[in-house]
Amino acid sequence: MSGQTEPLQSPSLNEQPAAEQILSKVFGYPDFRGRQREIIEAVCSGNNALVLMPTGGGKSLCYQIPALVRPGTAIVVSPLIALMRDQVDSLRQNGVSAAVLNSSLDPATRRQTEDALAAGILDLLYIAPERLLRESTLALLERTRLALFAIDEAHCVSQWGHDFRPEYLKLDTLRQRFPDVPRIALTATADERTRTEIMRCLLPDGGQTFIDSFDRPNIRYRVGLKRNARQQLLSFIRAEHLGHSGIVYCFSRKRAEETAAWLSKQGIDALPYHAGLDTEIRQHHQDRFINDEAVVICATIAFGMGIDKPDVRFVAHLDLPASIESYYQETGRAGRDGLPADAWMVYGLSDLMQIRQLRTRSGTSAAQMQLDRERLEALLAYCEHPGCRRPPLLSYFGEQHPGNCGHCDNCLDPPETWDGTEAARMALSCVYRSGQRFGAAHIVDILLGNATDKVIRQGHDNLSTFGIGSELDRKRWHSVIRQLLAMGHLMPDPEGHGGLVLGDQCRELLRGERSVTLRQDVTPTSRKGPVKRAEKNQTFQAPDDSPAWQKLRQWRMELAREREVPPYVIFHDATLAEVLARRPANLEELGEISGVGRHKLTHYGQSLLEVLASLDE
Ligand code: ADP
Ligand code: ZN
Repeated sequence: MSGQTEPLQSPSLNEQPAAEQILSKVFGYPDFRGRQREIIEAVCSGNNALVLMPTGGGKSLCYQIPALVRPGTAIVVSPLIALMRDQVDSLRQNGVSAAVLNSSLDPATRRQTEDALAAGILDLLYIAPERLLRESTLALLERTRLALFAIDEAHCVSQWGHDFRPEYLKLDTLRQRFPDVPRIALTATADERTRTEIMRCLLPDGGQTFIDSFDRPNIRYRVGLKRNARQQLLSFIRAEHLGHSGIVYCFSRKRAEETAAWLSKQGIDALPYHAGLDTEIRQHHQDRFINDEAVVICATIAFGMGIDKPDVRFVAHLDLPASIESYYQETGRAGRDGLPADAWMVYGLSDLMQIRQLRTRSGTSAAQMQLDRERLEALLAYCEHPGCRRPPLLSYFGEQHPGNCGHCDNCLDPPETWDGTEAARMALSCVYRSGQRFGAAHIVDILLGNATDKVIRQGHDNLSTFGIGSELDRKRWHSVIRQLLAMGHLMPDPEGHGGLVLGDQCRELLRGERSVTLRQDVTPTSRKGPVKRAEKNQTFQAPDDSPAWQKLRQWRMELAREREVPPYVIFHDATLAEVLARRPANLEELGEISGVGRHKLTHYGQSLLEVLASLDE
């Protein structure tokens, strides 16, 4: 087992302290977040629960605290080995007795763990579903006093989702064999269908459902126009995230590789990650990302699940994600520690053509097509939305947000809009008159009255729309066409030749029965001034460039290496930053800082105070 901290006997063995006490003494946090308190109360009193919370919402405490309050060992089912290891490391750093049981253990360690379980000295045992369901394990558990079962990533039970794990369907065994042990199922996937399925398969005997708000107030959402995507990304990183961890999501393996190579050449510590890489290399890159503090991973969607690094400062999309759901999952990996983080995306006309094309061509069932179409419309509407980003994002999860969050691109710097009805009509009629076969570049040539070879060859200089759009420039026309595509007034031709055809909905617009409002395009990196306004809203900003901050991070890194755990397992950035801001003079004051529990105070307190004292020398 990694880490050198001795598992301590938890307080639950001697007394039964209230949940609040455990929250502050063991985890060092002053308050519960969201609905944590209610959930913990329900589980502590022996009830089943279904918990839906966004990534980073704080699901783990919902079973970790009841695990300490209730007598016996809590069994945590998780499909992800990396995540189990991480959680166990973190728990041990807080002095909680926790262990894993999975295929990565050598026989001696396994036996040791099983003995610890039988002896009743484990507060939490993390276990992979296939091992849990073995008869020998179940028999072992029957001889053990159990506090609860926590089923993490509960959406893995859904055959509709892409994380489906067949073993999850067999977890009903737990109810049959351990009818008196409460079960808590947790997930960050919130759609109605998944929710129903989790209840049906994992909690058929009932349980209270707790849905927390899916809003992630510390994430700043930005969507901008793609011009030179790589260069835009580099400027963004250089301006706002030098020395930070980040994830860049790419559409293909090749693009992930190329982006990582290019960023590296520009001096950013970037690594690729995708399913096509050698297992060893992939693991190495993942480890570097987790253990270092400033690695940028350029990845396909293969990367992310099971990584709960709390200090990811930005998630960037160089290509459109598959749906709002994926976008939210992926961007949700930023800022789990609650400190400011960025969700940054650029997209353009060619992405739209490509993605609309993909969806129209795929040979799937009509029902699936319809679902895909709705998902895509929601995503595109989000991208082009001129108002606060949060209402369209959260309404996708059935939640209402009043808007005006003050912390997204559109709130910080409201986009200018203009009445695009006339321009839209010109573009649509130009597409129609030229025979619905040509791409955006040619359509714009006609509108601008450019007598290119192609325009002349096709005789399009004779069209009534030739030159009628000379009041707008090429950029603006591309923007009009992109927005019409996003709204579905234009579509790519079904054969996939890159031509544009009229969409079903454009008739009213052409007949003048409807108007459209278009937004002025901006590139995300060009927003300089307003960002400052956002920073005022934050409690503090990690003081990146100060030598004192670097010294604290250095101290943490040395401890982490010594103990073979990621640095954030020692202390989060949020905790270190608060330490720096408050400069505690003694252990008592240090213990008041969020994230400093009893155990960490005992083990690292003195050493941390010494580093603090040395800062002034
Ligand atoms: P999830 O599993 O929902 O993605 P985690 O359980 O990993 O989220 O929690 C995210 C982060 O928030 C963790 O670093 C955790 O320590 C922190 N956290 C959870 N609850 C609280 C709380 N009540 N106060 C302060 N920090 C918290
Ligand atoms: Zn907003």
